[in-house]
Amino acid sequence: VTSSTAGPSSNSNGPVIFTPEIAADALAHPPAKRRRAKRTEEERIEYLRSDPYVGQFEAYRVLCASCDKWIRLRPNSTYCSIPWDAHRKSCLAKKM
Ligand SMILES: [Zn+2]
Repeated sequence: VTSSTAGPSSNSNGPVIFTPEIAADALAHPPAKRRRAKRTEEERIEYLRSDPYVGQFEAYRVLCASCDKWIRLRPNSTYCSIPWDAHRKSCLAKKM
């Protein structure tokens, strides 16, 4: 036996080899960038402005055009739409 590096049984107990296939797969699935991307205040304002159920909005509250109530937003962030999104969802669900 002169060379045993390329044996046929390399797929059972052999060392893990970094193949180009794995590299390509890693490139195809980069760490989620979009999900964590923070929207700018301008984008958050635009989001509320384009929402048909937003009657009025301020930095820390949104007037629900559906039930005519002011929804308080997060105090640590201006125009944070998350509490509003939650209200709109439940508000519209009640109406249905
Ligand atoms: Zn509402």
